[in-house]
Order: sequence, then structure tokens, then C-alpha cells
Amino acid sequence: MQNESLLGAIEAGGTKFVLAVARTPGDILARQEIPTLTPEDTLAEAARWFDAQGRLSALGIATFGPAQLDESAPDWGHILDTPKPGWSHCDLAGYFARRYGIPIGFDTDVNGAALAEYCMGAGQGAAGMAYVTVGTGIGGGLVLGGELVHGAGHPEMGHYHSKRAADDVSYSGFCPFHGDCLEGLASGPAILDRWGATLSDLGSEHEAVDRVAGYLGQLCHSLFALTAVETVVLGGGVTKTPGLLGKIDESARLAGNNYLPGRARQKIVPPALGDNAGVTGALLLAEAARAS
Ligand code: ZN
Repeated sequence: MQNESLLGAIEAGGTKFVLAVARTPGDILARQEIPTLTPEDTLAEAARWFDAQGRLSALGIATFGPAQLDESAPDWGHILDTPKPGWSHCDLAGYFARRYGIPIGFDTDVNGAALAEYCMGAGQGAAGMAYVTVGTGIGGGLVLGGELVHGAGHPEMGHYHSKRAADDVSYSGFCPFHGDCLEGLASGPAILDRWGATLSDLGSEHEAVDRVAGYLGQLCHSLFALTAVETVVLGGGVTKTPGLLGKIDESARLAGNNYLPGRARQKIVPPALGDNAGVTGALLLAEAARAS
């Protein structure tokens, strides 16, 4: 009987799917990771695992992008054009909706993690929160008035343009679309391309740390200035570099020059949920889908 109330969750990533079931989002009963292969194999494998857990009442999916989040679009719940072979236009939400006939919550993995950090992690109680992850790419989600911001799509904070430092103009950037947008300057692959090593391996004294902190700090300042969020949660592999967060904070303060009226309350913090942020977000999406 208890199984009737199980929430299911999928964090769909480019290399692995994280699956979980729970009665409430904060109380994961079982968790499983499976490799991301073809859509046919991966979705069938996920369904087999869910079948073995009991009956689901709702499923939340937090997926790699780009994804169609517009509920009025005919392809809502699909992956859009992706370089990942076989996955373009995969009907992720539809597959499970057809199989289980239950409500499906669907959002990006970054929005899922943002929701989880806001509801249960480092952003709890914040008067607005932005979540930024800096790793293979740079992604961001925004929670205002207690709700994830969607608008015409989903935020793409990685393609924000920082102002280049006057003495740092020679590197052309690594983004295939924009060159030296933030992702082209401060993502893991950009750092590797430019300096030949990860930021952690380069060490906190290396100029790369100041450069990257400078550009990420500008994004944080802009988030504070544009949205008045109280908290920016900054996660992802690159942000684990020792000393980086402090330098980003310093750079954001410099960019703001003590002008913003709410700045004393505004802060930059690391995430609190670690590797479970995405899947916890998917459980929150499931809970919301069940309630709606
Ligand atoms: Zn870009």
C-alpha cells in the first residue's frame, strides 16, 4: 500500500542516468545509476528498475538539454537537437507517460538542481536564488518568488558575455557559437584548452584562477544587479578549486563597487546537496506534477 505513493525520479545526463524512488523528496529509498547508451536501451533499463521498486504515482525528469519545456508545444518533454548521437527529439516524458499513465514533471538538469538547492539546500529561505554550475559547460537556473523562471525557454547563463580584462584579450575563447562568452572563457574545457590543465592542477597561485574568478564574479554581480536574488549558489567541478569561491566573491564585489542596495544581504555560497541535487530536483518535479 505504501508503494502507491512512490515518487520516481530521473536525472538524465549525457554519460549516466541517476534513478531514484522516494516517498518524499528528502527521503530517497533507493537510487541507481545506469550508463547513457541509446535511448531505446537506456529508457528500457530505467523502466525495468522502476518496475522492480513498486508502483509510481508520479515521475520527475531533470534532463540534459536542450529540452522542450513549453507545455503548450507539441514536443513538450522531448530532447531537442543535441550532438549526442540518437538522442535528438527523443520523447523522454512521453515514453514514461505512456508506460505508466502517471503525471510527469519535466525540466532541465540544471533547473532541477536549482529547485533542489532552493527547497532543500543552500538556497533555503533565500529571497530569490540563482544556481550556477561550472564544469563541462556553464549552466544556470533562477528561482524568483519561489518558482523556477522559464520564460521563452530556460536560462543559458553560460553564454553571458563578461567584459574582457584589458590585459587579457589574446585568447579567443572556446565557445563554438560565441568564442569568448563566459563558457568560452571559464568552463572546464576552456581552461584546459587555454592553460593545458584543470584549474585545481594549475594551483591557486596560477593566473588562471584570478582570470576565471574575474569572469565568474562578473556573472554573479550581474545576477545580483539584474534579478536582486539574495543568494547565488555556485557549484560544478571547476568551483571546487581551492580558493576560487573567495576570489569570485571579491570579483563580484569589485564589479558592484558597493553600489547595490541589497548587497549586504547578497551572498555567493557552495551547493549543499552535492551529487544528489539533480535527482532530488527530479523528485520535487514529480511531487509538483502529482499535486497539479
Ligand atoms: Zn557561448
